[in-house]
Order: sequence, then C-alpha cells, then structure tokens
Amino acid sequence: MLEDMESVLDQERDETIGIIMVKCPSCKKEFEKHKKAWKYSHFDVKAYTCECGTDFREYTSNGKHSFTLRKKKGKGFVKA
Ligand SMILES: [Zn+2]
Repeated sequence: MLEDMESVLDQERDETIGIIMVKCPSCKKEFEKHKKAWKYSHFDVKAYTCECGTDFREYTSNGKHSFTLRKKKGKGFVKA
C-alpha cells in the first residue's frame, strides 16, 4: 500500500516544466535565462535584454506561452 503511494508521488514529482526557448523578436537570438521574473495577474512575466539592444517580455500562463511584448523607443511595450 505504501509502495503504491510512493509510485504515485513519484509520477507527480515536479519535473522541469516551463523551460521554453525564448527568442529575441528582433535578431532571433535564443535565451535560456531571463533577467527578471514576476507575476502579473495569472501570467508569469519574464524580462530579457538582448545584446542587440532589444528589451522584451515573455508572458506565459500555465506554463504556456501567451504573448511577447517588446520595448519600442517612445512607445513603451508593444506586441512583438
Ligand atoms: Zn536581439
């Protein structure tokens, strides 16, 4: 009985979910690490700054990509 419980727990053990390859909307460089992360409503927001000078933010919800915003001079963040 106890063994059954453990095998169930084993299956539900947290795996590395949510590793999404993120690309710069401008130069397509790939990122693994974000600069900052926070929650916005039901979104997880991750901020990146590319070496090409593009600032962008990835919005995910339940581990799925929702949309990307990129910073435009004088306009703030717009949809990428
Ligand atoms: Zn870039």
